[in-house]
Amino acid sequence: MTVERAAFITFHACPLAAPGQGKSGGMNVYVRQLAAALGEKGMRIDIFTREHAGVSNHIETIGPNVRVVHLKAGAPDAHLGDLYAHLPEFLSELNSFREAEGLEYGAVHSHYWLSAWVGQELAKAAGAPHVVTFHTLGHIKMQSRAGEIEPEERTQVEAEVMASADRIVAFSPHEKDAMVRLYQAAPEKVSLVPCGVDLSVFRPLDQKSVRARLGLNGEKILLYVGRVEPLKGLDLLVETAAQMDSEEKVRMMVVGADANGDKEMDRVKQLAKERDLDKQIEFVGQVDHSELPLYYNAADVCVVPSYYESFGLVALESMACGTPVVATRVGGLPTIVHHGRTGYLKSWRCPEAFANSVEMIISSDGLQQSMGEAARRRAEGMGWDNVAGIMWDEYAVLTGNTPHDDNET
Ligand code: UDP
Repeated sequence: MTVERAAFITFHACPLAAPGQGKSGGMNVYVRQLAAALGEKGMRIDIFTREHAGVSNHIETIGPNVRVVHLKAGAPDAHLGDLYAHLPEFLSELNSFREAEGLEYGAVHSHYWLSAWVGQELAKAAGAPHVVTFHTLGHIKMQSRAGEIEPEERTQVEAEVMASADRIVAFSPHEKDAMVRLYQAAPEKVSLVPCGVDLSVFRPLDQKSVRARLGLNGEKILLYVGRVEPLKGLDLLVETAAQMDSEEKVRMMVVGADANGDKEMDRVKQLAKERDLDKQIEFVGQVDHSELPLYYNAADVCVVPSYYESFGLVALESMACGTPVVATRVGGLPTIVHHGRTGYLKSWRCPEAFANSVEMIISSDGLQQSMGEAARRRAEGMGWDNVAGIMWDEYAVLTGNTPHDDNET
């Protein structure tokens, strides 16, 4: 006996939305990939998300055993900041759907604090254990960078769910520690389950051919991937390039769209202009997720300058492609990047230190290659199949079932 069906709640982040723009990022990728990997192993997953602008199908099957169900809650184009008020409506739609279809869930897994509220209520109604992945936490976000403002309900809901959930998933020891310290979560309820990467999509490719495909020449390329928003600290990428004194010019490529109009993008563009680097930076815009391996492979170094990353999916994707990473030593990044082996971690947001690390890599083909190989090897242990196996066991233990055995399916 094992858990046969689970409900995923991802209230505001539809797994069908293209990541790298608006509010769509790592969480959308995580929900979709984890569900797909559990589905491949034979678990049935219903992903419940809010009906939003552009939805054509109320229910959509997205792979073996996985479907996405859109439920009404507020106006389709409602702003994220106004969604808290619509949680009860979403819950009631979800319960009606479940009852109408006669569905029994062995586990409820919610994602982000808004969904956690729904998940907690659903788990009670369905008599199933509640597993929650917060993805980011209000307290940490506000501490990471001055100017981050979160709705006042957020930290309160997070604390309540930490107290009542059956299992809390943390991506890194840092996040677990913050849950215990800032929210008084019981340490024995917090499980460390990392994020994963699709190793068949994100893999090393021939750099010359991908560069030719992207119309790039032999310049050294520093890549940034992710939404463009203040918490990602993109100014540090520009300041890093400004500090580099290598003979060859580097080119910065920024992949991802601005999360709020063009505000942050304009700020970074202005900075590049002031540093006389405007000809060396290219804002590529949002790129389809399946096309990203081309960019990671074309790059010499992937720079992750974030003020905070609860996991650091971009660093893992880059490593899976065999491209070394230079990143800030924050949040989950130290659990992914092995300092000195798969890239470098920098404790301070100091452009000189970043520039120094980037230059070490790009000035030595041997180092770049050996770091790239070590990076891929490290990523190989973090495929979605492994992560889904661990998650299945988490559900099974909570329901008193035996852990999942791949031979069963
Ligand atoms: N991404 C993408 N296209 C883009 C930019 C980003 O598919 O143009 C993906 C990227 O591959 C990664 C996710 O969006 O999987 C961003 O992950 P991160 O953890 O940085 O997310 P965030 O903090 O933005 O939620």
